[in-house]
Parts: sequence; C-alpha cells; structure tokens
Amino acid sequence: MPLKAVVDGATIIGPDLSLEEWNELRVRHKKGLPVTMACCGEPGHLRTSRRGMQHFYHAVDTGCRYEEESREHLEIKYLIYRICKSEQWETYVEFSATDRTWIADVCAIRDDRMVVFEIQISSISPGELEERDIKYRNEGVESYWLLDNFLGRSRDFAAGYKAFLSENDERPAGKIPYLDDSLFETGPENHIFVTQGIRSVGLQAKNQTLFTTNNPEISLEVWVKEALKGNYRRYLEESAAGCHHKRRLKDLAAPSLHRFREFYLTIVRNGTYRKKTDSRYRAVKADGTLRRAPKLQKKFDEISAEIDWLEREYRSMMAESYGLFSWKKSRNDGTLWPVFRLESESKIIQLQECVKVLDRWEASFEEALARFETGGGSGVLGV
Ligand SMILES: [Zn+2]
Repeated sequence: MPLKAVVDGATIIGPDLSLEEWNELRVRHKKGLPVTMACCGEPGHLRTSRRGMQHFYHAVDTGCRYEEESREHLEIKYLIYRICKSEQWETYVEFSATDRTWIADVCAIRDDRMVVFEIQISSISPGELEERDIKYRNEGVESYWLLDNFLGRSRDFAAGYKAFLSENDERPAGKIPYLDDSLFETGPENHIFVTQGIRSVGLQAKNQTLFTTNNPEISLEVWVKEALKGNYRRYLEESAAGCHHKRRLKDLAAPSLHRFREFYLTIVRNGTYRKKTDSRYRAVKADGTLRRAPKLQKKFDEISAEIDWLEREYRSMMAESYGLFSWKKSRNDGTLWPVFRLESESKIIQLQECVKVLDRWEASFEEALARFETGGGSGVLGV
C-alpha cells in the first residue's frame, strides 16, 4: 500500500498530513477531486489503517506491486522516512528511477550520497536479491535491504559463504585438518555481503526492530542513523575484510596442515617408519646378512634412535608450548584436540619450516633404508 499519491499536481505523503488536512482531502476527493497513485499512475482512494496510518490504495486492482504491501511494511517505510528527514536528509518515499527500472521504499540524499532502504518482508532468494540490487549498484546508489524472514533463507546465504571459504581448497572434498571452523562462523548479513556485496540487516517486522550477527535487537532509529553516517557500511566492509584475511591465511596454511596430518598417521598412529625398519631388520637377520656384517646392527640401532627423535620432535611441534597449536576441548565428548593458531603469516611460515624438517627426515630415512636393500649397509640418517 502506498504512502504517496498525486493530488492537484502535487505529491502528497499521506501520514505527513495533519488529521484535519487529511479529512479535508477526503471530503474533496468524495466530491470528485481525482487522486492519482504515484506508483503506477492509476486512480486511487484515501484510507486510514486500524493503527491510524494514512495511506492510499488503488481504485481497481491493476496488478501494481504496491497493492501487495503489508501494514507492517507501510509502517516501517514511514518510520524510516521520518528518521531520515529528522537527520536532515532530503528524503523521499516510493522513489522511482527516472526510467522506472526501480522504485525504492525510502530514498535519502545528501551531498554526493544517495542511500535507499528496501524493506523485504516476503522471502527472497540470493539470486533475486542480486538481480534487484544490481540496478542500484549500476547507478552508484548505496542500497540497504531490511530482510525479514532472514532466518528462513539463512541457509541459502550460508551456502554461498561456505563456497566462498572453500573456493581455493586443493582438496575440496576433505576438511582441512587442525582448523577450528568456528573461526569462520558469522551471520547472514556478513554471508550476503562477503559473497554478493549486498548490504542487508535482519528485520523483525512485527516488533519493528533489527538484528545482526552480534546484536539480537537494534532499534530502527539507531540503525538507520548508523547507516546514514556510513557506520553500518563500514561494519560490513571490515567484517568482509576480516573474512578475506582469514581465508587467505587458511589457503596458505592448508598444504602444511594436510602434511601434518599425514605425519601424524605415519609417525604416531601407524608407526610406519618403525614397522618398515623392523621388517627390514628381520629380513637381513633371516637371510644371514646381519651375521656376515655385524656393523649393520649399529646402523639399525641408529635408525631406531632417529625414529625416537622424530616422535619426540613431532610431539614437541604439536605441544601447546611450541606456539603453533593450542589444545581445545571437543564440544561433544570433552577430549582434547589440537587446533592450529591461524593468527598470522609468521605462524604459517613457522609451520612450513616444521614440515620441511619432517620432510627432510623422511627423505633421508627412505634413503638409509634403501641402502640396506642394496646390501651396502652404510646408511646413516642425518637431519
Ligand atoms: Zn500503483
């Protein structure tokens, strides 16, 4: 339902008229003064809602989208209009582009900024939202979407954010080990802004309040003022920069974290190096090589000591005191598990250095073991 109509060539905002002015207009309209809807140019009439909101309605159903608008929509639209006006912005309701490609619920202009507020009470998909927002973006208009039913669509928005996070993953199917996913958790307004560059805020239309990830209830007045000051835009931009930064660190750390997990399996869980050495030892013992070359025993002892060293080294790298991992209690069963401290590039460089040490060890281990196979028996491990 529109707030705006054209009477006698002048645009009128229904609720801006005093009760006397409104009643006088009603009388004149009854006597034949035409009222033209500003939205579509069709004839209209005056009406006052049960809660006292003076507005206009279409004389006949012409399929104009404004006829669909709810009472909540109408009231919030008017409140935003009043707040913008009280902040000394040049403000319009149901403001349409010159070519009528868009009509904004409220439009506020000051200096070189044109800000529009769109109230969306029915559910909207990320695709539709993008389609409508792009019209504003193309004209350099700063748009804000007040999305009711945020929660109804939040999973769609979150899916886009998840895709953004894993965009550069080398192994998209596998979860990156030792990463705390809660580090990347955020709410729908950030999901939408990070993935689509669209500014939005959660709306509880019934209470006429708003919400964000960190704030469950914000008054319309406080939020509109923050948006006009540019603070809400800055909040979204800073959150997005934080998300991009964290994703970059994650991408940088991922290969080393995968290697760390592989080392956990070979060194700790499966004891692969020890098993390989033992089986080689048994082989040279069985075929008599060890008897013919007693020096081999010393070499095996050396390798065994090297494996002990490796285990200690790996555990020390994983320890809290080393600075790379912190041990957190699992939410499910309270067991402790290591989480990589994805804090800075220097932490990641340190992690990469550790992987190099382990890689070098592994290469020299394979080399030493291979020498036994060729019967040389002169393998020495050195890291
Ligand atoms: Zn209309």
